[in-house]
Amino acid sequence: MVKIKSAEEIELMRESALIVSKTLGMLASEIKPGVNALYLDQLAETFIRDHGAEPGFLGMYDFPNTLNMSPNAQVVHGIPNSEPLKDGDIISVDCGALKNGFYGDHAYTFEVGEVAPEVKKLLKVTKESLYIGIREFRAGNRVGDVGYAIQNYCEGHGYGVVRELVGHGLGKKLHESPEMPNYGKRGRGKKFVEGMTVAIEPMINMGTKNIKQLKDGWTILTADGKPSAHFEHDVAIVNGKPELLSTFQYIYDALGITTDEEDEFRHKNLQP
Ligand code: MG
Ligand code: MG
Repeated sequence: MVKIKSAEEIELMRESALIVSKTLGMLASEIKPGVNALYLDQLAETFIRDHGAEPGFLGMYDFPNTLNMSPNAQVVHGIPNSEPLKDGDIISVDCGALKNGFYGDHAYTFEVGEVAPEVKKLLKVTKESLYIGIREFRAGNRVGDVGYAIQNYCEGHGYGVVRELVGHGLGKKLHESPEMPNYGKRGRGKKFVEGMTVAIEPMINMGTKNIKQLKDGWTILTADGKPSAHFEHDVAIVNGKPELLSTFQYIYDALGITTDEEDEFRHKNLQP
């Protein structure tokens, strides 16, 4: 059952989402060649606790860490390890925080050093697809409208849209109803109403949409070994329209990104 949130609850969710946003912003200035994911994970855990929240993923379904760290061909759910990041890597960082009984849950794929142009393009298109999906998350639309928009845009660029993993409702539970696939048909599925809160999170592969799982029981990676990108925002329906609860602004501040094409794109696409 979909849990509709009051205005007060949405403000609490914004607080949780912003702790995650700030955590990702802190990590943005730490991610560089030679640094390992386990170190970053420890920084994130300390940062979240210092902000009066609990790591949202630690111990959830027995996950051992604060962050999901998924480099290169890993799609999501990578377990942080001590292997140093290399120049030209990408790494998807998914982070959760729990405060006042509500979860924040969002993700960003970072570039490590200098990344190949075709990989940069994968990141750009995946991030754009996130906002194209968010635009469809409005009262009266349906789950399939979001999924269709993301799928159509990414497949138009020749990319594979992961089927097995999906976005989700978000609130007092990390995963609430409804599921929010990154593929679908217009006008199908659950209808969106005022006060719904979801995590929209395209997981987009440069090559095949097919995935496999490592024996660790967690790590998902592309079947063809090509890179994969993941961007996630927490969104509420307020006055019938999508309102972002999370933000990438702390990341942009940390990276010194001031002329952000993607930000313009976001504004254009979030207009009614
Ligand atoms: Mg997430
Ligand atoms: Mg999520």
